[in-house]
Amino acid sequence: MSAGKAYRLGVLHGDGIGPEIVTAAVAVLEEAASSGGAEFECSELPLGRAAIDTHGSALPEETPAALAGVDGWLLGPHDSVSYPEPHRSRLNPSGAIRKHFDLFANIRPARAFPGGHALVGNTDLVMVRENTEGFYADRNTFAGSGEMMPTPDIAIAHGIITRAGTTRIAHEAFRLAATRRKHVTIVHKANVLRLTSGLFRDVCREVAAEYPDIEVDELHVDAATVHLVRRGDQFDVLVAENLFGDILSDLAGEVAGSLGIAPSLNAGESHAMAQAAHGSAPDIAGRDLANPVAMILSTAMLLRWLCGRHDDTRLLDVADRIERAVEATAARGVVTPDLGGTASTSGFTTSVLEAIRAGA
Ligand code: ATP
Ligand code: MG
Repeated sequence: MSAGKAYRLGVLHGDGIGPEIVTAAVAVLEEAASSGGAEFECSELPLGRAAIDTHGSALPEETPAALAGVDGWLLGPHDSVSYPEPHRSRLNPSGAIRKHFDLFANIRPARAFPGGHALVGNTDLVMVRENTEGFYADRNTFAGSGEMMPTPDIAIAHGIITRAGTTRIAHEAFRLAATRRKHVTIVHKANVLRLTSGLFRDVCREVAAEYPDIEVDELHVDAATVHLVRRGDQFDVLVAENLFGDILSDLAGEVAGSLGIAPSLNAGESHAMAQAAHGSAPDIAGRDLANPVAMILSTAMLLRWLCGRHDDTRLLDVADRIERAVEATAARGVVTPDLGGTASTSGFTTSVLEAIRAGA
């Protein structure tokens, strides 16, 4: 992209603490962009509880239509269980967006930093989670619903693993590892789920053969929990199917700090969405208490993904400024109550803006 042209970003506030943390992330992005020489045009789009009132739907048709035309977007958490019927029974808004844009890769880094409450200091890993297959019914691109009850006393879930789905997520993991410490751990349970997890493991091994410079090992998912807690600092990139990746990435997030600092990116072939790993935290919503770090760092991840697409290193510079400022602020002890501090959402954000201006 030529210098001076602005990247267009969608901004979706969501529910609960969503508006507070997304507002913080946009403010930090704009400050870092003005210091780093990149330009962004942010447009707010309706989604969530507020959109039910204004547009009659938690995901009005105009929202995905507008997202198709932007470079990427920031999505706040949603609280779909609080929606009135019939909205509550529908596919949740972020699931629907993930499905619509086939955002098959959920990239969840877990990186410890000073002031971040890590259980295992020096942890710096990335969980690469397949986002469309496995046992998660509402994410399943093939079957619509992955669950059924033939009688009120029997519930059945089916999981789907495909060669195509596993191949693309494995390539994501290996390409990412090539930019890091060149190590991928394949997580599976092929000793029990011989066909599904077995196919996942086998396809990952085949893809691994195309990356001879990258060291590969494997762990059963149960063993992976043990090793993450004991030696989380020795992992680089882990690749897992949907359900295992979901559980392990929450675990890894805690090992590296807390939910409030755990970012994530949902990426497809041509679109990406920054979304904090945590939920809408209704218990603290609207009280200026939420930790905006996860949403801010998710936004930095989106910039790094955009750099890969547009080959514009100004985006890396802006992402670096954001990450440095967050870490410098936390290292000074300015953190929100979930990390044992007394800073408010807005107070923390103001400190991050000052750190960016000071060139942290
Ligand atoms: P969901 O189903 O939407 O993922 P959840 O039940 O997993 O929701 P969260 O909304 O993630 O729950 O919240 C879990 C706990 O962590 C709550 O006590 C919440 O207040 C806290 N929490 C989550 N995110 C943050 C944050 N950014 N800052 C501070 N506390 C948070
Ligand atoms: Mg949750």
